[in-house]
Amino acid sequence: MVKGIGASPGIVVGKVLVKKEEEIKIAKKTIDSSETEVSNLKSAIEKSRTQIQALYDIALVKMGEEEAKIFEAHQMVLDDPEVFGQVENKINNEKINAEYAIEQVVAPFIKMFDMMEDEYLKERAADLKDVAGRVTKNLLGIDMVDFSNLDSKVVIVANDLTPSDTAAMDKEMVLGFVTEIGGRTSHSAIMARTLEIPAVVGTGNVLSQVVTGDMIAFNGDEGVIFVNPNEEKIAEFNAERVKYDAFRTRLSTLVGKESVSKDGVHVELAANIGTPEDLDSVLRNDAQGVGLYRSEFLYMDRESLPTEEEQFEAYRKVVAGLEGKPVVIRTLDIGGDKKLDYLPLPEEMNPFLGYRAIRLCLDRDDIFRTQLRALLRASAFGNLKVMFPMISSVEELRDAKTIVEEERVKLREEGIAFDEKMEIGIMVEIPATAIIADLLAKEVDFFSIGTNDLIQYTTAVDRMNEKIAHLYNPCHPALLRLVNMVIQAGHKEGIWVGMCGEVAGDPRLIPVLLGMGLDEFSMSPISVLNARWIIAQLSQEEMKIVAETAMNLPTASEVEAYLANTIQLED
Ligand code: PEP
Ligand code: MG
Repeated sequence: MVKGIGASPGIVVGKVLVKKEEEIKIAKKTIDSSETEVSNLKSAIEKSRTQIQALYDIALVKMGEEEAKIFEAHQMVLDDPEVFGQVENKINNEKINAEYAIEQVVAPFIKMFDMMEDEYLKERAADLKDVAGRVTKNLLGIDMVDFSNLDSKVVIVANDLTPSDTAAMDKEMVLGFVTEIGGRTSHSAIMARTLEIPAVVGTGNVLSQVVTGDMIAFNGDEGVIFVNPNEEKIAEFNAERVKYDAFRTRLSTLVGKESVSKDGVHVELAANIGTPEDLDSVLRNDAQGVGLYRSEFLYMDRESLPTEEEQFEAYRKVVAGLEGKPVVIRTLDIGGDKKLDYLPLPEEMNPFLGYRAIRLCLDRDDIFRTQLRALLRASAFGNLKVMFPMISSVEELRDAKTIVEEERVKLREEGIAFDEKMEIGIMVEIPATAIIADLLAKEVDFFSIGTNDLIQYTTAVDRMNEKIAHLYNPCHPALLRLVNMVIQAGHKEGIWVGMCGEVAGDPRLIPVLLGMGLDEFSMSPISVLNARWIIAQLSQEEMKIVAETAMNLPTASEVEAYLANTIQLED
């Protein structure tokens, strides 16, 4: 058994194909004619250009424009005078072979980018490595492993896979892949999810334990790999796979369908995202919008605050990509368990109750104003809504709205376009907020209930503490009552009420939320179709009674048992 990181869901049992990194030994040679060498280099660049264009075309069809862009970046590396222009100069000036010149030019760039914290620059190092390797192999006439042309079904095991490798994978033949390095947000992991190829990454030294032809089995959600499993284990995995495949196939028939209950009540099923890269997954799973864009990810893994322009680009990309569907962007929710290296926060006894989210933004309004300007500008490109996290009082909401208004005035003076009607809402994730929801509802356009924190604060159970994890229960009647209060208070003032905490995608509680009248359910993209499936089987009228009964049961376990016995869904 090897433990890695589950990167893309699905159950896999199959034969291993190890992708060996070919050791290309590059020696320095003195050449007679730099003209011939430069001409060889140019042919290799042209061949690479054709290959990259083919990869772009494949990626565009299989994954969409967003993911295909990586190959545009590769073409740009080919055209970058800083790279291959310098290689050419080196050949001419030093009379050395082209592959050695490439190595000499590219190595310092890769080293420099690799050392940087910035994820974006790290990706640029990966692009450069990929392209330089391609041109070198073309120069040396080395065939590249062609994952688009395999003749049997395999599970690829590699130290790492380049985006080119992943994009070229033929889904029919590649059952899944396993890599030794990488994390959930590395490019090949993101692409695997987009392509829906099951994958486990970050397995350390799996290559020392498998050879081509071995059997391998894994569940891409769990990240545990079995090498040469026994018959019993294989049968277990096969049964699980059949079940999982049938489940996904059934769900895929719901793409393009409405999210409507048996008695004709429409709800909105939206997705939670962390970066613009998640957009493809949102569209593929047919979410009707983005209910929570956690903007803090834009501030992480870097050395300084993102500029207004960087933020504007990220928000615009998502808003424009959703083509008029709603996108709720949450303003910076930093603090608690989310820290920024470059923005030291005070040591606190209780960081979850401390200087964080909107509290920090109202204190550091320089940071807040930059983000608000970027958001307002992006609102001109689609249906953007802004939401404040951790609001605990009407005063905080008013202060935040005043700052928005001040930034609107400035933009108007500067003649910069924005959506004058952009909705402003709040997360309801603190009990005090839920209790005064009737008052807050008069001053916002919408509520989005953040159950992840609302459970934590309502029951005084740290959401990160494993020791008391059994007390963190979404079926606690206190949570159900608060959620119901918030929904009814919102509706009384005529505003819509959504939920973006994990409970929104919890199959056990979707019936209760439908019964309470929740308007929007926002969850991880992969859960959207399952929620649509569940809602289609339920009648809101009947669920009203279920919700009422559940809220009045004395314990969470009685709520769980009641729901398990009452709600019979098709399997
Ligand atoms: C929540 O608290 O429910 C929520 C959606 O926000 P986060 O998980 O980012 O705190
Ligand atoms: Mg929260």
